[in-house]
Amino acid sequence: SQNQRVPLIAGNWKMNLDHLQSIAFVQKLAWTLKDARHDFATAEVAVFPPFTDLRSVQTLVNADDLPIAFGGQDLSAHDSGAYTGEISGAFLKALDTKYVIVGHSERRQYHGETDADIAAKVAAAHRHGIVPIICVGETAEDLEQHGPSAVPVAQLRVALEGAATGSDIVVAYEPVWAIGSGLAATSEQAQQVCAALRGVVAEVLGDDVAEATRILYGGSVKASNIAGFMREADVDGALVGGASLLLEEFASIVRFQK
Ligand code: PGA
Repeated sequence: SQNQRVPLIAGNWKMNLDHLQSIAFVQKLAWTLKDARHDFATAEVAVFPPFTDLRSVQTLVNADDLPIAFGGQDLSAHDSGAYTGEISGAFLKALDTKYVIVGHSERRQYHGETDADIAAKVAAAHRHGIVPIICVGETAEDLEQHGPSAVPVAQLRVALEGAATGSDIVVAYEPVWAIGSGLAATSEQAQQVCAALRGVVAEVLGDDVAEATRILYGGSVKASNIAGFMREADVDGALVGGASLLLEEFASIVRFQK
């Protein structure tokens, strides 16, 4: 595509790798990408480790000045207080996290997060200067009942109610039926929904923001299918789960060729 958006390849580790394993992985990843003379201007790389790893990853990335961004997999809608087990955006910002994943389908499914909760988390991320990666996506039943774009579009509309004017967002279209299933959407399906999501961003935040916003596809992304997604005009990167834990596979995704 002709746009100026720098692609983002984001690795969502989910509940995998402890802090020692995280250091080893990030070190090897940086080395693998450097070795291959990956041009970091052609794609931004970010990893999303468990909270208990973030301090270790920060220390390593800062000490060696690695061109790898990192972020949390979730955050609290609150800034501090009596919320046992929660992690605030202030804490994440204090660890230099650039991004935070918000509204992942596993949070929606297993922790009952609603669109309104997710809007509140988008607002919390923006209060602390963190870029939320807002995840939306339909289940197989939604797809059958409502067609391809209706549910993700409706989810994004509500989530964007929390967005602060002038703050960056990233959107991730992740069809629930494609996550961890090995059954990725086709690049045409991804393009169709990502274009509709860009339309929502334009509607709510304006055309300039929509043009600058990166919209990722996620769901069974692999080295063998990344190029097809990246050829689509409205797909600006990927949110990668399972394959982000496989060093060579993830490095190959980062080095995608259109
Ligand atoms: P997957 O997960 O790549 O393992 O399908 C994607 C995600 O949940 O972000």
